[in-house]
Formats: sequence, structure tokens, C-alpha cells
Amino acid sequence: MTFDGFETLAIHAGQEADAETGAVVLPIYQTSTYAQDGVGGLRGGYEYSRTANPTRGALEECLAALESGTRGLAFASGMAAEDTLLRAIAGPGDHVIIPGDAYGGTFRLFSTVLQRWGVAWEAVPQSDPEAVRRAVRPETVAIWTETPTNPLLNISDIEALAGIAHDADALLVVDNTFASPYLQRPLTLGADVVVHSTTKYLGGHSDVVGGALVVTDPELGERLAFHQNTMGAVAGPFDAWLTLRGVKTLGVRMDRHCANAERIVDELGRHPEVSEVFYPGLADHPGHAVAARQMRGFGGMVSFRLRGGEEAALKVCERTSVFTLGESLGGVESLIEHPGRMTHASTAGSPLEVPADLVRLSVGIESADDLVADLVKALDG
Ligand SMILES: *Cc1c(COP(=O)(O)O)cnc(C)c1O
Repeated sequence: MTFDGFETLAIHAGQEADAETGAVVLPIYQTSTYAQDGVGGLRGGYEYSRTANPTRGALEECLAALESGTRGLAFASGMAAEDTLLRAIAGPGDHVIIPGDAYGGTFRLFSTVLQRWGVAWEAVPQSDPEAVRRAVRPETVAIWTETPTNPLLNISDIEALAGIAHDADALLVVDNTFASPYLQRPLTLGADVVVHSTTKYLGGHSDVVGGALVVTDPELGERLAFHQNTMGAVAGPFDAWLTLRGVKTLGVRMDRHCANAERIVDELGRHPEVSEVFYPGLADHPGHAVAARQMRGFGGMVSFRLRGGEEAALKVCERTSVFTLGESLGGVESLIEHPGRMTHASTAGSPLEVPADLVRLSVGIESADDLVADLVKALDG
């Protein structure tokens, strides 16, 4: 069967009905090892589940298809995917450019673990590609970008950054967690590696932690698979199965996330307590034109600042009832959080520090009217 539609791939890629039983849903192959017919006689190509497992393999194939790549690799978490990637492409003496407002965990990985390992890094605001070009050094092996960024929803131009990376013989890595492959496919815009925290929109139900890498170049895919097996931070069969289950509805969920976010952005823009709204779908957002070009929709993440400063921001976070106060994002349920004290606390005192009056929303797929009413009540006090 050949099919190209995104939703069809999400439901079928890597997942044919079980040949033996006809089971429509792929089994959870909860096994560490596989019987061999004679020494080295592998029945299905499987020998040990760190190296390969059929349930994880199905997820990897599906993610590769959704990102228009040739190879997908699934990990125990987004951070495990990032760490494995960086060990494979960077070593002592190398240099990596990261976003000026990188995801807090990514910033911490660079500023502690990788720095101690001898990988130099520099945080550069990436909405201006020329600023990134100026930061390139002879030792630069990768440009790491996130778009939209977390939590300020800045946009970088993937195609322009790919050109700059390739001029420097470096790789362009795109953390596509906020957009998901339904809204944005970086490999088709010239990126070399896509990184995901599948914990977020891909899993989509806040019930599993996972990560993924997807690439186009088969050789790079092999190198990453070698590191995945050697370092061992793989996704377990049940986690892979849960993620695969979530992925099937990614398209319909993302449409609703986007529609609900737009309603909320409208409402926030009118509220007297709100001083600034960050959403790439806003016509006056500095990255709007680039986002409109490289994304199918503007996503479900919204951030805003409050006139009343940090105290007002903390109060709003504590007053909602449909929005749950909590970290993470991308699930069906709406979440609210204070980046300065929560997800981005590790950036305090650094150039990546986020404003204290900032609130971040992960807009879920509940009824938009309920979400708007909840937020307005919390803002009104
Ligand atoms: C959550 C997240 C990560 C890290 O993923 P985990 O699954 O939590 O390890 C990386 N990048 C972004 C943008 C994220 O939101």
C-alpha cells in the first residue's frame, strides 16, 4: 500500500496487522531477548531489545515517515535523545550554537554535562539568521535551533539556518517538539536532524516520557543507531506503544490545539492585566511571516506577561481550575505554569533568564469556552 497523507501515515506507517494473529494493533513486545534457531540464527532479525525491539521499531518507522526522514530512533526521554545525538556529533574542542532562549533542560545539558566534557557552546538569539552566521567558528559542528522556542515562542528560519550550517560544514539540528511534524517538517526545509520530546504533542496524553531523533542521511542514521545501542537510553516497549497510540491522533489533536490557542490569544490581547502576548500566529509577532511560511498552523503554546509583575503572574497560575498548574506541555489537558520559577528556573542569572512576569500556557483540547472563562476569571482575580 502506498499513501502519503499525514494522518494515514500516522495510523499505518510501521504498523501492519500482525501476520500471525491478525491483531490490528501492534503488540507490546515486552521481551528483552529472542530465541535463536542455531547460533546466530535470528528469526526476525532481533537478538536483544536494547539493540532492537519490534514495538520500538514500529514507532521509529512511523516517526521517520511523519518527519519525511529515512531513519527514526526512539529514546527513554527527550533529554536522552539530545545527549545521545550530541555524543555522536560533538566531542571535546567542538562548538555548538544554541538558541538564546533554549528549552531549560537543553541549556542545562550544554552548560553542565557537555561543558565539562569539553564541548563549547554559545547561546545566540536566532530570529536573525545573520547573528547566527556571525557566531559560527571553525570548530562549530552544529547549529541547534528550536522553533517556536520555549517559552517565548520566537521563530527561526529553518531554511536560512540550514544554509548557514551547511556553508560551515556543520549540521542543523531542529528541536521540533513545540510544532510537531503535523505543523512543521524541518528535514524538508534542509535540516539534518530533528529532535523530539515525544513526551509532549507526539505522545499527547501526558502519560509517557520519551524522545526521538529523525534524520534523512542514512549514514548519520547508522551512526546515531550505533550510539543509541552503545549508550543504551532506549524507549521501553510499553512506552513506545503508548507513544505510537498517541501519534495516531496527532493531526486532529493539533488542529484543535491551534484553534483553541487562537481563541485564547484573542481574549488575552483584550485583557487589561495582560501587557504582552507571545504567539507566532499574531500578525505583529516578529516571526509571523517566517512561521506562516514554514508551519501549517501556529501551535498550542501561548505565553503572556502581566502588568502586575511576578506576583500577579504567580497568582494567575494558582487561580485557574481547568488549566492545571504543572510543568510539561502538549497533552490533551490544558496546563499553566510560571517559567521563571518552574521549567526555566535553571536559567536564572544567565543570559537565558526569562521575565519574572511571564506565564506559559499549554492549551489543551477541552471546550474553548471553558478555557477562556477559566483564564478570564483567574486574570480578573
Ligand atoms: C520537554 C522538552 C525537552 C526534553 O524532553 P524530555 O522528554 O522531558 O526529556 C526538550 N525540548 C523541548 C522543547 C521540550 O519541551
